[in-house]
Amino acid sequence: MLAYRHAFHAGNHADVLKHLVLTRVLRYMGEKDKPYTLIDTHAGAGGYSVEGRYAQKNAEYGTGVSRLYDATDLPAPLADYMDLVRAFNPDGQLRQYPGSPAIANMLLRETDRLRVYELHSTDHRILASYLEGRANTQVSDRDGFGAIKAELPSPTRRAALLMDPSYEIKTDYGKVLSALREALERAADTVVMVWYPQLQLLESTQLAQRLKASADAAAKKGWLHVRLTVTQADAKGFGMMGSGMFVANPPFTLHDELAECLPLLVERLGQYDGANYVLEQKAV
Ligand code: SAM
Repeated sequence: MLAYRHAFHAGNHADVLKHLVLTRVLRYMGEKDKPYTLIDTHAGAGGYSVEGRYAQKNAEYGTGVSRLYDATDLPAPLADYMDLVRAFNPDGQLRQYPGSPAIANMLLRETDRLRVYELHSTDHRILASYLEGRANTQVSDRDGFGAIKAELPSPTRRAALLMDPSYEIKTDYGKVLSALREALERAADTVVMVWYPQLQLLESTQLAQRLKASADAAAKKGWLHVRLTVTQADAKGFGMMGSGMFVANPPFTLHDELAECLPLLVERLGQYDGANYVLEQKAV
């Protein structure tokens, strides 16, 4: 039984980083006429109310998206992502936050294929109803890690994969690593995006290094790693300090776009003086 519900965390600093990267990748994929497939292995409910009792419990969006929502001085890539958040809020007030399937729904064209996986029965039901009737879309309630075998290589050849597990169980760290390797074995040019939490936990601190080694061996177009640290762990070493996104076969434009945004993200989302970012890539 899964306990994690993304509704508690929607719009937090980690969603901002993840969805900024996702938006840039999907914009890039959409520049070519040829359709592509997006596979979202851990999709969540699709969109979230930030006024509901889940999001209000810790009001995580208050130190995330709401610090950027009214800003008029954002670099173009961040402004583009924030326009999508605004489009999801038709009366102008920040009331709802778009999850990865909602961002995909806004950016994919009718000819692009969308494959979303969500294991939690309630979130799966909400997601299926949100995407009902969307062309070229399948919503699955199966294990998202199984999507690699089921979906790759894709009939479109061009494909992007978002892996965004909750890491409720430590085995998720090993599973994303194996899934990255398997995805690149099946289709070496797949744009694979992996989100991970920055924690004082061996599995978390080692993950980026292990993903890099796997991408070094198999990705056709190199990799990019970005991490945004906004706070410190508590005295016992618990708590999420920030998060990272690892992208195998990133668009060549992604590094410079993120370099433009990260100083502002540190300034606006940082919760202590040591807030910082890491941005590194290996271009091939
Ligand atoms: N990607 C979403 C977004 O950006 O809006 C958020 C996803 S949330 C971090 C992780 C989701 O994965 C949760 O909704 C959880 O129920 C679901 N989940 C956990 N294990 C899963 C699995 N093995 N396969 C598919 N979904 C899973």
